[in-house]
Amino acid sequence: MKLTKKILLEESMMPTKWYNIVADMENKPLPLLNPKSQKPVTAEDLEIIFPKAIAEQELSTERWIDIPEEVYNIYKIYRPTPLVRASGLEKALDTPAKIYFKNESVSPVGSHKLNTAVPQAYYNAKEGVKHLTTETGAGQWGSSLSIAGAHFGLDVKVFMVKNSYYAKPYRQLVMKTYGGEVFASPSEFTQCGRDILAKDPECGGSLGIAISEAVEVALNQPNTKYALGSVLNHVILHQTIIGLEAEKQMEIVGDFPDKIIACFGGGSNMAGITFPFLRHKLSGEKKDLQIIAAEPAACPKLSCGEFKYDFGDSSGLTPMIPMYTLGHNFQPSQIHAAGLRYHGAGQLVSQLRKDGFIDAVSIEQQECFDAGILFSRAEGIIPAPESTHAIATVIREALKAKEAGKEEVILFNLSGHGLLDMKSYEQFI
Ligand SMILES: *Cc1c(COP(=O)(O)O)cnc(C)c1O
Repeated sequence: MKLTKKILLEESMMPTKWYNIVADMENKPLPLLNPKSQKPVTAEDLEIIFPKAIAEQELSTERWIDIPEEVYNIYKIYRPTPLVRASGLEKALDTPAKIYFKNESVSPVGSHKLNTAVPQAYYNAKEGVKHLTTETGAGQWGSSLSIAGAHFGLDVKVFMVKNSYYAKPYRQLVMKTYGGEVFASPSEFTQCGRDILAKDPECGGSLGIAISEAVEVALNQPNTKYALGSVLNHVILHQTIIGLEAEKQMEIVGDFPDKIIACFGGGSNMAGITFPFLRHKLSGEKKDLQIIAAEPAACPKLSCGEFKYDFGDSSGLTPMIPMYTLGHNFQPSQIHAAGLRYHGAGQLVSQLRKDGFIDAVSIEQQECFDAGILFSRAEGIIPAPESTHAIATVIREALKAKEAGKEEVILFNLSGHGLLDMKSYEQFI
């Protein structure tokens, strides 16, 4: 059997720079706006909640940005991640399509989120910050920031969407094991949490509310900054390590993807795997590359949202972001893919979608779990509920290829495993 199952990169072949797509965009994204002055945000505005280096990256137009050595060394704990030929899934679908996936589930926290948690903790620590605050939905981001904080000697407060706090008890324990402090959001710890609980004591929370709580604490407590796990440009920048590795790995097997598919919450894993490939489409060299963002039907901001300026959180503390959004007060239903319940799509992805470079599909939960179960049995990995959206989309495309008798190359991002999400699987089995 000649097929290579896993395409591995040596540690020494890990990319040493992140890729910033802004440099190659013909239509630059509209600026973030300061909500008070309605003027474009400056680095100084951002430095109220972020360290200088992150504020700079957020506004940077440099094409390549060096990965600091300290970050690179921690990336080595789990990177480079394997590119895997999904030969089991191909067989199960009897498709002529070649399917590859980038396995980000091998990180110690089980998802891609550590790729940005590590540099964010590093830059904060380097600038003398002692405390970080953040929000988390399913708990993947809170787990990532908790361990990244531990690597660089920072303490971390995590506001976890209340419904997930109770639905995913092992995630809290992961965060606490790493030394993170976890609050069920809305909490009594912040003014915004108390206001919401006064109106609705039963409120199960949302990412928008949890962000408001985390930002409030960062604004009011000394030596404290805030860290965000998706949506913003610096997060997407850090995640491009996924696509940059995948590009080298696809080169090794002599393939280039016709389609790249990833699930879509705030856009970081999708942008992370696709932007390094998309640069060859922006340059006109790979005109036919298609990029598909897979959203839950319960929160379809790219498929059904409106492009406009909106806040990143529910109380309007963040800058206004020009993006596809369902509205900052949108309360999606309680789907299991808690990491995909964010209301907006961010500045870069939204501009690229507007310019026709990114397609979107929205998928019902049942189809996603069916896909997750098929994938588990075919490839042996139980995917995160978020990642099943990508898999369901891959299955649709692979079956279309079969119908058309086309041997196309499909690449997707396995953003995480689902071993801490078995409660969700229980309901479908
Ligand atoms: C957080 C998360 C997502 C969604 O976030 P993006 O920023 O859109 O990538 C997807 N998959 C997993 C496993 C996650 O933890």
